[in-house]
Amino acid sequence: MQFKPKRVFFEEKALDYELGQNLYNYFKNDQVELKIIKSHNRISGIPGKTPQQSYNEAKRTLVVGVRKGDNFQTCKPSAHFQLPLVTSCPGKCEYCYLQTTLGKKPYIRVYVNVEEILQRAEEYIQERKPEITIFEGAATSDPIPVEYLTGSLARTINFFGQQELGLFRFVTKFTDVDSLLNLKHQGKTTFRFSINSSYVINNFEHGTPALIDRLEAAAKVAHAGYPLGFIIGPILEYSNWEEEYSKMLNSLHNYLTDIPKKITFELITHRFTSRAKNNILSLFPESKLPLNEEERQLKYGQFGYTKYLYPKDKLAQMQVFFNDQLKKYFPQADIAYFV
Ligand code: SF4
Repeated sequence: MQFKPKRVFFEEKALDYELGQNLYNYFKNDQVELKIIKSHNRISGIPGKTPQQSYNEAKRTLVVGVRKGDNFQTCKPSAHFQLPLVTSCPGKCEYCYLQTTLGKKPYIRVYVNVEEILQRAEEYIQERKPEITIFEGAATSDPIPVEYLTGSLARTINFFGQQELGLFRFVTKFTDVDSLLNLKHQGKTTFRFSINSSYVINNFEHGTPALIDRLEAAAKVAHAGYPLGFIIGPILEYSNWEEEYSKMLNSLHNYLTDIPKKITFELITHRFTSRAKNNILSLFPESKLPLNEEERQLKYGQFGYTKYLYPKDKLAQMQVFFNDQLKKYFPQADIAYFV
């Protein structure tokens, strides 16, 4: 499932970098629309008369740019900083938070000044020593679909392999992992896969690999010696959710039987904001996502957003279920959190 953009925009300055030049040469002879643009803050030229058209066209648009600005965003609680390599992703998950944060045209952007970004990461590590500094590589993206074009994750994993006090982590739903298996990661990069039941993948995670392919990729990553984790989310309640999630964990167990290492799970139940609900319904008017506020409890978030969570008793039921299932299939596993 390789990402093939329909149009590629190059920021003028990106062509001053080797990666920018290489990408330009790569796409020059391809059947894609190429454009050199000035500022990376104003991307025009992505067509679309309706929200759906704009969204679909943006998801096939690649912007090759230079990351400006010196500072990284913080990334609490799972890491100290975001590591900005890629923004957005060609997947079309109905519930994706990027629909809310990236606006109506969530085009994919890659940064070519990877060495400068890593140099800044090194400065952060130095500033915080002797503390360990953790960087998250998927805070605003899924970085795997563009890796075959940029090689940026591989470069980053090698970089962290040489850091004593820096750790790297990212999460993906994609499976194109072969180029990352033989790197000198030294256990400094945690490779996480986002998985879900077949019902959720088939109904809501459009344009992403099937569960079985993700499990196969996870097994390869585990054999390559990476610390491994899984995000299960969004956890949804539907008619046979327990049976399906149990099946999913059983399959995962079968794929990882010969892996003695510790695995970490992050468990995230489904929640939404009013803004997210409006965005989802404008893009997916027929969505089967459970978005009825009356069936939820309200939670006031730290940035003034009100979130709709499952009610307390439902959350408790889900937590008990996952605790029991994980104990059964992965007795050594760590549950990092359940939210
Ligand atoms: Fe969003 Fe991840 Fe789905 Fe991409 S794969 S659309 S980043 S949820």
